[in-house]
Amino acid sequence: MSTKNKVRVRFAPSPTGGLHLGGVRTVLFNYLFAKNQGGEFVLRIEDTDQTRYVPGAEEYIMSCLAWCGLIPDESPANGGPYAPYRQSERKDRYRAFAEQLVVNGYAYYAFDTPEELEAQRQLIPNFKYSHENRLQLRNSLSLDESEVKKLLAIGVPHVIRIKMPVGETIGFQDMIRGTVSFDTSLVDDKVLLKADGMPTYHLAVVVDDYQMKITHAFRGEEWLPSAPVHLLLWEYLGWKDSMPQWAHFPLILKPDGNGKLSKRDGDRLGFPVYAMNWTDPKTGDLTKGFRELGFLPEAFINMLALLGWNDGTDQEIFTLDELIAKFSIDRISKAGAKFDFEKAKWFNHEWIKRSQNEKLLPMVKAVLKEHGVIDPVDNYLERVLALVKDRLTFIEDFWIQASFFFTPPTDYDLEAIQKKWSNEKTAFFNDIIPKLSSFEHWETEALEQYYKEAILSSGLKLGELMLPLRIMLVGGKFGPHVFDIATLLGREETVKRVKKGLAAILT
Ligand code: GLU
Repeated sequence: MSTKNKVRVRFAPSPTGGLHLGGVRTVLFNYLFAKNQGGEFVLRIEDTDQTRYVPGAEEYIMSCLAWCGLIPDESPANGGPYAPYRQSERKDRYRAFAEQLVVNGYAYYAFDTPEELEAQRQLIPNFKYSHENRLQLRNSLSLDESEVKKLLAIGVPHVIRIKMPVGETIGFQDMIRGTVSFDTSLVDDKVLLKADGMPTYHLAVVVDDYQMKITHAFRGEEWLPSAPVHLLLWEYLGWKDSMPQWAHFPLILKPDGNGKLSKRDGDRLGFPVYAMNWTDPKTGDLTKGFRELGFLPEAFINMLALLGWNDGTDQEIFTLDELIAKFSIDRISKAGAKFDFEKAKWFNHEWIKRSQNEKLLPMVKAVLKEHGVIDPVDNYLERVLALVKDRLTFIEDFWIQASFFFTPPTDYDLEAIQKKWSNEKTAFFNDIIPKLSSFEHWETEALEQYYKEAILSSGLKLGELMLPLRIMLVGGKFGPHVFDIATLLGREETVKRVKKGLAAILT
């Protein structure tokens, strides 16, 4: 019995733009599976279609993976035993395989010019180069052998196409969908090698998965229609026994479940669908990303993992290590997963709550800096953060929730308190101001106890004097426990704000 091959998976994006949620989830599932199996995760850049190549896209993909913490074991940037990992740099490897297919009768040369093909497209709606019309077109199946030799000898531009068999049913076992089969008559004769000598995706993906010893090939459901071509190539090249196990991941759907989530849905509904901001170098158009919106990578990954996968329990919060330990392909659902932005925000909120302060501090400092608060004292900032951490959906919210710790309120939400104001309340505050100024145990419990006793001895009601104090310190009806706020602000600042707040109420 042969020893089991080490698991090797690959993420094989074409560098055509920013990474959509679905793309990052494909990376994630590949990564989780590889790490769960003690295997290797390869990043291969599929850049053979030079017309779709977008400068900057590869760097963007690398930064996305780095941000998400999904670091490939082998990649164009850090190399590996099967380098190069950029298909354009492997160009010379593919022609021999395409020629071998021609020799063995599985492929043929096609000399049709782009203009001739365009004319066919104009003439025949949904024109497909296939067994139905290949003998009427200009290729090595329809032309005389001597003519073909001549055309090749004088270097007439040509492509190599697969010769799809007629009337065969071929299939494979998808790890998510089970048996999947195709009628070969319905598939067109795809180009394998282009006139410029570059392979198409179909040939390159098979050759590279073979040469890079990929054991499992996971990709989005949109690649399923290409599977019959790939299946035949594995067979025709004589590599059938090495073919990876395949799984096609279900789509990520629009929030209403009506079709695949697209970039346009994000614009329309006001949420990002890319991992990070992406600026199209041609148009200058910016597509917003989760990172820039203030998502923590842990939350982003966690949210993505649960789009189409669960561990069979109700657990929703998972660290990357937990995901690695629990991941299995058979718990991926066959049905598409609806994207829910509110749920995505919930994950971020939960992850902010769970994050260590040291981790959040630099981000919080950046938010403060944007608002002109430079170099806050670390210890103070950390205590503020501890108080408001569980109120943040995004790190940006820190300013809304905690700005009053750094700058005194200028606007007061007086509506609710002014109506019920009385001379007794004014007297109460005038009475406690000097007492607070010399209050010794400036800490939460002592302050709370003192304040409540002072209310009771003044004959007023407890409930009536809590909100005014909050408004004086904060400006509005929000924030953590009011005596925690006073404790952190300190004696002097608290007294100052009570005086200023009282004046505002009385105007
Ligand atoms: N290059 C393809 C893409 O852009 C990869 C498909 C596959 O994984 O086979 O997504």
